Amino acid sequence: MSSNAAAASTAREARRQSLAAGLSRTRDRIDAAVQACGRVDRPTLVVVTKFFPASDIDLLAELGVREIGESRDQEAADKIARLDPATTVDVHFIGQVQTNKAASVARYAHVVESVDRARLVHALDRAAAVAGRRLDVLLQISLDGSPGRGGVMPAQARPLADLVGECEHLRLRGVMAVAPLGADPRRAFADLREVGHGLQEAHSEATWISAGMSGDLEAAIAEGATHLRVGSAILGSRQSLG
Ligand SMILES: *Cc1c(COP(=O)(O)O)cnc(C)c1O
Repeated sequence: MSSNAAAASTAREARRQSLAAGLSRTRDRIDAAVQACGRVDRPTLVVVTKFFPASDIDLLAELGVREIGESRDQEAADKIARLDPATTVDVHFIGQVQTNKAASVARYAHVVESVDRARLVHALDRAAAVAGRRLDVLLQISLDGSPGRGGVMPAQARPLADLVGECEHLRLRGVMAVAPLGADPRRAFADLREVGHGLQEAHSEATWISAGMSGDLEAAIAEGATHLRVGSAILGSRQSLG
């Protein structure tokens, strides 16, 4: 092995250990929170890999991660094209989707968690049809009373859910939210849960509640989150793409 190759292999091994440690700490936190509130089910961990290179996704897959989250189309598409062929992960798109990016997102995403407007629903349905796929969809709910930062207002969730329900190439699976800055996350996630339960009356498959990030996953678990989106607690703080 050349010394360059040896150095790369050492760096990769160090990174693997760091990711394994982050995963293990996070899984311990999840277990403790699940126990503390007496839940019998365990939420699905979606590891958010935005800002980190494709090689990290390969390592995470080797460590047993099956679901990753990405928030920018260009970055996600580039990285997915560079994954090791042995890496099989489901991609959750968790960032705001510009309508003109729907065609690209529909080619690689399995779940689009950030659906918040009718135009995007139509664009994703058409794009999924062209890609010959069916996409799982979550409605992103705005919990801070102002729709500016993305998300549909709770009162508008039902008509948007009904619209998704009419789309042949989309499947409504539930709701997603980010706790508003400065608010009590437990309160916010309780509101999210209520919105999600409301949708289930007419949409029986809409059982997913995506809530909780590195800083507030315990609150999300206590309020019934089925999916957690955890980035920095596993991958560290933001790194530029290498
Ligand atoms: C970045 C991001 C996360 C992960 O946040 P961390 O604090 O790094 O765990 C979760 N959800 C969304 C929508 C994000 O953009």
